[in-house]
Amino acid sequence: MKYISTRGQAPSTDFAGACLAGLAPDGGLYVPETFPQIAPPAKGEAYHDVAARILSAFAGDAIPADDMKVLCKRAYANFSHQCVAPLTQWRPDAWLMELHHGPTLAFKDVAMQIIAQIYDYLLGKSGQRMMITCATSGDTGGAAAAAFAGAKHADLVILHPHERVSPVQRMFMTTTGSPNVINLAVDGDFDDCQAIVKDMFGDREFVSAVNLSGVNSINWARVAAQSVYYAMVQASLGGPLRFVVPSGNMGDALAGYVAARCGLLSGGFEAVCAVNANDALARLFNTGVMARLSAVATPSPAMDISVPSNFERFLFEMSGRDAEAVRQAYDTYKQAGETPLPEVAMSRLKCSGLSAASVSNAETMEEMKRFEAETGWQICPHTAVGTFHARRLPDADVKTVVLATAAASKFPETVEEATGRKPVMPARAEVLYAREEVFERIAPSLAAVRARIEQHAARSR
Ligand SMILES: *Cc1c(COP(=O)(O)O)cnc(C)c1O
Repeated sequence: MKYISTRGQAPSTDFAGACLAGLAPDGGLYVPETFPQIAPPAKGEAYHDVAARILSAFAGDAIPADDMKVLCKRAYANFSHQCVAPLTQWRPDAWLMELHHGPTLAFKDVAMQIIAQIYDYLLGKSGQRMMITCATSGDTGGAAAAAFAGAKHADLVILHPHERVSPVQRMFMTTTGSPNVINLAVDGDFDDCQAIVKDMFGDREFVSAVNLSGVNSINWARVAAQSVYYAMVQASLGGPLRFVVPSGNMGDALAGYVAARCGLLSGGFEAVCAVNANDALARLFNTGVMARLSAVATPSPAMDISVPSNFERFLFEMSGRDAEAVRQAYDTYKQAGETPLPEVAMSRLKCSGLSAASVSNAETMEEMKRFEAETGWQICPHTAVGTFHARRLPDADVKTVVLATAAASKFPETVEEATGRKPVMPARAEVLYAREEVFERIAPSLAAVRARIEQHAARSR
């Protein structure tokens, strides 16, 4: 399986190359040259076996199918529910797909657990050691720490903004006890963390000296891994489904689109990206203009995204895989802060089955309360953005599936504020409080972070 860049100016590469590189050298995102056609899950087929089949279709010769099976089995053994993404019904015609049974109680574990296995496997095979870096506003860092702790061939450096992540989020990152995970608490905000990581990647010499890579939402393996649960729910519920996907960078919603393209969904594809007050994605879908906005803080922080990075892959498909058009759109956007989408892309987008809508902060808070009153369950603020929007959708002869992207207990302060009741901590989070936290405060400067990484690289090699 070959991977090409959405901007058309990078050489094609294989699955291993696309995974380990993250961003393509021309600034685009890697996509498979064609979408493989994959058989839907068989009755009773285990989640990890379905995952192995789907990921093998994307990995091609880069990873033998038997090895992929072992990697998937290992990755999904770390979930507290054997179904990995179980369904719960909350209305006669609507279900939650619970994606929060992984080690850090949020859906990012679903992809990160297998990505860490794949990285360690590929690196071991090629005899490399890699320095993986990640700037986090909360959830991704914890998922990466849990997944990469103890990896044999990779070190992980996480940058989080000091005192700007919740205590639970911080503890997931800082209590792994694993010497290959370094936590840097940057004296600054998330944008500072992200800027430092971005600048590090701009220094080609440094990148190759420490063999630097990143794990973020643009990694193709992540999208592929997330398409698995769409296939699973389709096999369980049957019939035409309508997905409501709490969205930020649009990785999760794109995975649904990919599942449909690979023949894993039946009855057409319909999904709504439910975004919070950061409504860049909703504006894009509804006005056809991509405009730079700044992110505002909301009760659903993991979706406080102003530029949804995976939209580029979707635009590539909607423009008929016209890399030139994609490159032009992003060039204009970069220079002018705004660009209209190509007309052909807009008209295809309108019948793609994908759409987007925004939910306000007040609606989100109210929804958490209402959901608890109706079902007795607490949901996280991200999930509430989804269920709120699901209620607004017109009646149709479909089953609605809302993706529950995190556990309520991961956002205890917000959930308590909304419902008046503190969510119960699952045992796997409760134990964190007894563990020793290890992190280092660091100045918000490229030089300081670089020096720390160089020091670690010298020691671990
Ligand atoms: C990351 C995240 C999202 C958004 O997912 P995208 O793939 O970026 O659209 C939603 N909810 C939670 C809890 C998250 O951590």
